[in-house]
Amino acid sequence: MTGTVTLVGAGPGDKGLLTLAGAQALARADAVVYDRLVGEDILDLIPPEAERVPVGKENHHHPVPQHEINDILVRLTREGKHVARLKGGDCFLFGRGGEECEHLLANGVPFRVIPGVTSALAAPAFAGIPVTHRDFTSSVHLITAHARAGKELHIDFDSLVRLDGTLVFLMGLSALEQVADGLLRAGMPADMPAAVIENGARGTQRKVVCGLSELAAQVRAAGLQSPALIVVGRVCSLSGALDWFTPLPLHGKTVVVTRPRARAGTLADKLRARGANVIEAPCIEMSQREDTQPLAAALQQPHDWAVFTSPAGVPAAVRALRALGRDLRALYGMKLAAIGKGTADALAAYGLTADLVPAQYDGEHLADALVDAMPQGGSALLLRAAQGGQVLPEKLAAAGIRVTDVPLYDTMHRCDKVDALRGLLADGKVDAVTFTSVSTVEGFVGAVGGDYKGVTACCIGAQTAEAAKRYFADVKIAKNATIDDLVACIEEEITDAS
Ligand code: SAH
Repeated sequence: MTGTVTLVGAGPGDKGLLTLAGAQALARADAVVYDRLVGEDILDLIPPEAERVPVGKENHHHPVPQHEINDILVRLTREGKHVARLKGGDCFLFGRGGEECEHLLANGVPFRVIPGVTSALAAPAFAGIPVTHRDFTSSVHLITAHARAGKELHIDFDSLVRLDGTLVFLMGLSALEQVADGLLRAGMPADMPAAVIENGARGTQRKVVCGLSELAAQVRAAGLQSPALIVVGRVCSLSGALDWFTPLPLHGKTVVVTRPRARAGTLADKLRARGANVIEAPCIEMSQREDTQPLAAALQQPHDWAVFTSPAGVPAAVRALRALGRDLRALYGMKLAAIGKGTADALAAYGLTADLVPAQYDGEHLADALVDAMPQGGSALLLRAAQGGQVLPEKLAAAGIRVTDVPLYDTMHRCDKVDALRGLLADGKVDAVTFTSVSTVEGFVGAVGGDYKGVTACCIGAQTAEAAKRYFADVKIAKNATIDDLVACIEEEITDAS
């Protein structure tokens, strides 16, 4: 059976600007063929078992020529695969999506097209430039300023100037001087507002806005690089007043999120909403233990308390119970303790209310609270990672409490963005790394190594901070061990420092 191809417009880079239909197509793909301008976070959405085929195009040197890309698509579908063809921005705007569809049609391969948010509109939007505005212009024109190597630009500047609309040039950074000259010679005023936007709609966005005759010199002085686009028109004069993106508190800051992928979402999204350039680099991975014997044995004995020390422990307990043919009712009669709000929320997702959450969310305070709750002694069933810290069981045992420590899962160190992280650290481009547990510190340092000068380690709690202090000179702790307070801590610390 032959497969299908879904062309997916990936948007300008930020994961939030991928469409829902695009994300669904990725989740269902057996193979993903993608371009260079597709954001890393979007590539993270590709299922691990899907084949990945990078066909990145650099200006003037195409590593994989178009006819080969076409052939790759057909070959994959002949293998019966459902292929997602991920393209930067929108598929049909200067992306040769049309040619790919023609080739698929000629080869009898069914295809569909999921449009994407084009950089031509998203980059101006993130730069405070509405491409049309009733006080200025009612038209916008998208133009490629890409010249074949060594050839002149073929642009009818006279017609463009006559349109009196907003002009957006893609692929034009290397031809910026020619574009500006062409427009000026065709009679556009020297002080016509204009802009170049680099890495538009991404956390690393930079822009230069000035009169057209100054643009090339200012852009070269600022060292703007590709991908970038040029916007020319009176609407650019709004770019200061309507700039909502640059004033965000974490704009221009690069923050690494080390939580495991399943849990990274909220923290990463909250940081992005504050304008940060977020690098999701999970440094630990949970792996459920197959051996459920320790849990079966523990359940033979009565316990006063069931203790959860991480949000991941709750679904892990549910899975282990299910493997034993049981469910959460096996904990019937026990009180429930959660180390913090996240863990209490994980219980709440199963309709359970934690009876105890310590005022400070760490093992030490959890132990103290449990000891207070069992003045006559008692028993505690710890349902947690095999690599859990020893403070909790030791303190409980010292207070005469019988402890059964059941390892439900392993926390393994891993990091699949080591090279990228090392490069950014070496260039001094990382402002902060966030740690939500001791194991994320160990996972990160173990994988990435190196020197963290100028990097702030922002930690969720005291024990995590202790671990971070062994490697980082600058360590900050969230006021309470919650994601919101961690975000607030990053905001305070790294914006003050600059
Ligand atoms: N189909 C894409 C455009 C492909 S042509 C789209 O709809 O966005 C590639 C050109 O797009 C680049 O040379 C650059 O001019 C522009 N571009 C792509 N992503 C960009 C970004 N994030 N910021 C600024 N320009 C971008």
